[in-house]
Amino acid sequence: MLKVYICPKCKAVRYVSKYKTQCYKCNVEMILASIPYEEYIILDTVGRNSIIQGDIAKLI
Ligand SMILES: [Zn+2]
Repeated sequence: MLKVYICPKCKAVRYVSKYKTQCYKCNVEMILASIPYEEYIILDTVGRNSIIQGDIAKLI
């Protein structure tokens, strides 16, 4: 099953089935999004961005 991972640095998003993954660009560990892939993909750009922003904000 795919999971949504977000890069806390460049906000890139990747869909992977692995337990954890790294951003190829920044070389940092990506964070797991707070919603599952199935819910993420039906969101529009605004909805996706708010998830990304919210999940990154939780790190700080
Ligand atoms: Zn990155």
